[in-house]
Amino acid sequence: MIATPAWPPRSLPRLFVRAPLAEGATVTLDAAQANYFGNVLRLAEGGEVLLFDGASGEWLARIAEAARKRMTLTIERQTRLPETLPDLTLAFAPVKRTQTDWLVQKATELGVVHLQPVMTRRTVAERVKLERLESIAVEAAEQCGRTLLPAIADPQPLDAFLKELRRPLYFADETGGAPVSEALNPGPAAILVGPEGGFTSEERDTVRAHRHAVVISLGPRILRAETAALAAVTAYMALVGDWR
Ligand code: SAM
Repeated sequence: MIATPAWPPRSLPRLFVRAPLAEGATVTLDAAQANYFGNVLRLAEGGEVLLFDGASGEWLARIAEAARKRMTLTIERQTRLPETLPDLTLAFAPVKRTQTDWLVQKATELGVVHLQPVMTRRTVAERVKLERLESIAVEAAEQCGRTLLPAIADPQPLDAFLKELRRPLYFADETGGAPVSEALNPGPAAILVGPEGGFTSEERDTVRAHRHAVVISLGPRILRAETAALAAVTAYMALVGDWR
């Protein structure tokens, strides 16, 4: 028997819109979105798409009007409630732009809820462009099926981050720590990963001394900062997150 494909198919185009969504509502896309749907995906009036607003879940919408630079959609019905994500913060020392973009894209796909750029002594990154990182997170959420966007905070100095910390901190330290299989516990948490040049010994001592710090090892090899971030988030999601 031919399996009835799920309706609507997850393959319908998905778009994040900054307008509150509800049944019967009309949404007008901006020129770039209208161009993407109309001229790139060649969608026409009557076509179906999935929309999400980062708060109310996912909605099936139908193209009501399609002009070259303008498109309006009518919301037909809710297809998914907002997902519940493990309450995970990824605190990372920004690296070079392409690597930071990559890190934000992957962290979004993996389900990270908060992204916190942390400035350390050896952080060599240029200015962190939040708008750019937000648009990368939006695109990753559109692609991976998220209905909630990660919150990306303004960069913060390491000591300020540690001062405000109110949850377990899994400190990825290449000089040694507990295996993730033994150290990670379910529940709200933060993961801290250093810059390409690593933490200074004073910074390392300060983090290790923090009352919420749990020092973790990501294996015997020195990973690039963005790889370490991905590995730590993956371990968290697999062992105590929503992959179980
Ligand atoms: N300072 C180091 C060096 O040059 O020898 C390398 C720093 S590493 C490129 C960047 C960050 O990734 C580190 O600060 C740490 O947070 C994390 N990291 C890399 N490899 C790791 C490992 N095997 N275990 C735990 N954390 C690791």
